[in-house]
Amino acid sequence: MNIPLLNLSRQHEVIQSKLTEALLKVVDSNNYIMGAEVRAFEAEIAAFLGCRHAISCGNGTDALVLSLKALGIGAGDEVITSPFTFFATAEAVSAVGATPVFVDVDPVTFNIDAAQIESKITVRTKAILPVHVFGQPADMDALLALARRYRLHVVEDGCQAIGASYKGSMAGTMGDIGCFSFFPTKNLGALGDGGLIVTNDDRLAAILKGLRVHGSGPAGLQALKAMQQLGGGADNASTVRHPEADDPGAKYYNYVVGANSRLDEIQAAVLRIKLPHLKNWNEDRIRLADVYRRELSVSCLQHPALAEDVIHVHHLYIVQSACREELISYLNEKGIATGIYYPVPLHLQKVYERLGYREGDLPVAEYLSTRTFALPLYPGMSDSEQNYIIAAILQFEKERMPQ
Ligand SMILES: *Cc1c(COP(=O)(O)O)cnc(C)c1O
Repeated sequence: MNIPLLNLSRQHEVIQSKLTEALLKVVDSNNYIMGAEVRAFEAEIAAFLGCRHAISCGNGTDALVLSLKALGIGAGDEVITSPFTFFATAEAVSAVGATPVFVDVDPVTFNIDAAQIESKITVRTKAILPVHVFGQPADMDALLALARRYRLHVVEDGCQAIGASYKGSMAGTMGDIGCFSFFPTKNLGALGDGGLIVTNDDRLAAILKGLRVHGSGPAGLQALKAMQQLGGGADNASTVRHPEADDPGAKYYNYVVGANSRLDEIQAAVLRIKLPHLKNWNEDRIRLADVYRRELSVSCLQHPALAEDVIHVHHLYIVQSACREELISYLNEKGIATGIYYPVPLHLQKVYERLGYREGDLPVAEYLSTRTFALPLYPGMSDSEQNYIIAAILQFEKERMPQ
């Protein structure tokens, strides 16, 4: 049997005819970027997440970059984040000219260890950027308390955790800003790139809406006004005549330096069809995770632990093994795909050599990078597929592991 890490056709099967119908409708609409589908999707996902503003953009990485820019974070600033995440988290910090400061992770949840943050705060620290890694929310109470005490911003990287919750609040909605990705493999995936920024702050929302469209037109003007109200380092106020919002030329008046980061109508139409299924799909992931945990309880694999009072949406089912490489090749021989997340913690990546970290600096992240890997898990995975994987792991242990 061949089992991929993720099989998206199981999700698409169910909505196939709706998808093709919606795609054709967009083709006929003559409107392909940030139109009616995008507006409707933003309203629907804001309601799903329970937040005031949902602002779509080009991808999850842009969501992070625009968020940091909106908060006025740039050269000379430091942002505290996790070393055990996808590169984009730290890349966004570097992209705005700031420096990522890595704090080790908790060995149980793999999320940033709040207890180790305080000693890394300096006068240059502007924000904490926690990642809800693999779908489990970080320790937000502790992070928000630190942020309040030191007047830091909190930007949540919720790219792997859409629909997860922490003490009843949706992941991504607790900090100043939350970021999501609709990369096809995420729990809510488009048929291409897409991203989302959420906030309950009206002024940040105005800035973000302007930034994603080159800081131009009415949205750009609103962004400039919001930046001035926040006293940020916005570009100088313009003395040029401000065109009316409905003036077709308004688009060619620029007020702040932003970016081109918008969601396509096609992706929004796809996401609108998928969103009503997200809760069920996440529940299916949770059910499959429970089966792995129960059926492999005697195995020497270490299973992902659940923090208290959270809903973990198992973007990836990450186990630990002392003989990872051997087990992975055994499973691969049996047609079972696996993936290593993450083989190199970010503080030891070549690109961050200049930051001066050494091996041993963040021991938990380094240890995990030698032991963790993902087993296949996706909504619609069949019992026979999962049983085949479970049997293969138990067989490996019987054959290869000393009793
Ligand atoms: C996927 C992901 C991103 C980036 O999202 P893209 O849409 O691929 O740009 C950022 N952070 C984390 C933790 C991710 O998993």
